[in-house]
Amino acid sequence: MEKEECIFCKIIKKQIPCDMVYEDDKVIAFNDISPEAPVHVIIIPRQHINNVNSLNQDEAELIGHIFMVAKKIVKTLGIDETGYRIVSNSGKQGGQTVEHLHFHLLGGRMLKWPPG
Ligand code: 5GP
Ligand code: ZN
Repeated sequence: MEKEECIFCKIIKKQIPCDMVYEDDKVIAFNDISPEAPVHVIIIPRQHINNVNSLNQDEAELIGHIFMVAKKIVKTLGIDETGYRIVSNSGKQGGQTVEHLHFHLLGGRMLKWPPG
């Protein structure tokens, strides 16, 4: 299911361009338009899911697949050994600004913890 006004659905439908890093039949990954680190990739399912709250049991495999894709990307970008962070913001206090489930993949510099 797609959402008319969803910016990430528009990227999936190629109505908005993106700097693609990876794609397959289930997910796409692209560079964040406003990167917070030397590596800042957004990984999203092609299927529109609002956030973690909307996940169903039958999407568990899809989420596992996203992490397998992340594993490939970090290896390709050469940050698998130096380290990286995968984070999914949900809701207002979680800092979610785009309501299409996504995973930030950040790396290429020392990341602070805890996040702000
Ligand atoms: P959130 O704030 O919801 O966790 O993450 C949304 C992310 O999507 C932000 O880091 C933002 O920079 C990125 N973003 C928003 N619109 C676009 C866009 O049109 N293209 C790309 N490549 N990234 C976007
Ligand atoms: Zn969407």
